[in-house]
Amino acid sequence: MTAATSSTSKLAARAPATVLIVDDAPANLGMLRKILTQQGYQTYVASSGERALTLARRMHPDLILLDIVMPGLDGLETCRQLKSNPLTQRIPVIFMSARNEAEDVVEGLDIGAVDYIGKPLRMAEVCARVRAQLQIRSRSENHEEQAERLRTIVNNMAEGLLIIEPDSRIQFTNPACDKYLGYMEGELANKSLAELLHPQVADEYQEYFDRYAAAPDTAHSHGTREVIIRHRNGSSVCMDLTLTPMYLRQPLFIGLLHDITHHKQSEDALQRAAMVDPLTKIANRRHFDNFLEKEWQRAMRSGQPLSLVLLDVDHFKLYNDNLGHPAGDACLIQVAQAIADHALRPTDLAARYGGEEFVLLFAETGAEAAMQLAESIRAHIEGLKLMHPRSTTSPWITVSIGVSTIHPQQLDNTESLFVAADRAMYAAKEGGRNQIRAAATNSPTLEAVKALMMRQVEG
Ligand code: GH3
Ligand code: MG
Ligand code: MG
Repeated sequence: MTAATSSTSKLAARAPATVLIVDDAPANLGMLRKILTQQGYQTYVASSGERALTLARRMHPDLILLDIVMPGLDGLETCRQLKSNPLTQRIPVIFMSARNEAEDVVEGLDIGAVDYIGKPLRMAEVCARVRAQLQIRSRSENHEEQAERLRTIVNNMAEGLLIIEPDSRIQFTNPACDKYLGYMEGELANKSLAELLHPQVADEYQEYFDRYAAAPDTAHSHGTREVIIRHRNGSSVCMDLTLTPMYLRQPLFIGLLHDITHHKQSEDALQRAAMVDPLTKIANRRHFDNFLEKEWQRAMRSGQPLSLVLLDVDHFKLYNDNLGHPAGDACLIQVAQAIADHALRPTDLAARYGGEEFVLLFAETGAEAAMQLAESIRAHIEGLKLMHPRSTTSPWITVSIGVSTIHPQQLDNTESLFVAADRAMYAAKEGGRNQIRAAATNSPTLEAVKALMMRQVEG
């Protein structure tokens, strides 16, 4: 294999390059054809300008070697016509001529030729110039192909892409980006990235751009972070934004947007589900325990009392046995709703603590107020008049309630609050059910200290 074919095939890995040779002198045509064929090219020949135009349109050669002085259509005119036809204008043309004064060469190049070879031809030079032009053409074809490939990717990728200037101005957005943010093609150009971002994040990005503007060579990738972006319709979309500097003649940034709204929604849904009792849809035990812990800490700081109300449905086993488990479920849902209706402040929380047992926390609420709340819940549930034919307490569903109140101290724990409420609730059961009882109100720690002091005084 010759040097010419190996170098062209390395670049294009295609069929051999094709060269159209145009000359009115048959001797020239024959010699060029022989030499170029030896070099591994496929050749076409034309002995006139008219014939050259026809062949060029039909065969699309990779290169044309064009004699200037010919009868009829001369080389210059042939070249002009090649360059004015979209089908042939991109085929490189090399002139060959005995007229090789500077002005001849300039005229030829001005018409659009890529090179000019003087006659008499030196074959080694012809081969070298042909080879050089074919390499340039092959490279530029590769560039065009790459650009086309990139365009296809950018236009069809699912991620939003932004090209951003160092002053944070948007230069380009791809269709996915426009679609995510509700804009028409080109509408985002010249807007500032900051306009799209939540103010808090916008400042942070502005700082990043400012820092980069001051010292371009120190720019590092801003990495990926979750941002809230304003949709054109005013709503907010949750996105992962990756920002990377691109070191070109003009410094630019590439922003990639990945929609995570769906992730967020399911994440939120999961989080909510983990906090809710599936049957009654009120808070579950886990959520209640977390909530109590927070309110407990707050009460310790504020010195405000905290009240716990514990409720247990009376004779519920009998209710189930009599009316069936599904009826029991429906009953629990109604009872739960009645209870939750009494947790009105943000610092109140009603929860299903297990089976037919419910709890309510009232922050900043003393014993007396908590007893009143408990009584209205008891009355509310009795007032629902959920028929309970086998209850020995009432014709309807009722609850027994224990209430405990505490001013939490350093050494107390939430457990003690529960134990006290539980005891009170069992007292209510023993007292005949459908009633409320209060637990001893003081802090167990305080009680222990008092007892110790009493003993010391007595001793
Ligand atoms: P008391 O008045 O002393 O509280 O009597 P009780 O029958 O209510 O108490 P017990 O603890 O003996 O029975 C509670 C019943 O609650 C037994 C259980 O089957 C029922 N239960 C617990 N969870 C559910 C539930 O999710 N759905 C239904 N339908 N029943 C439940
Ligand atoms: Mg029970
Ligand atoms: Mg019960």
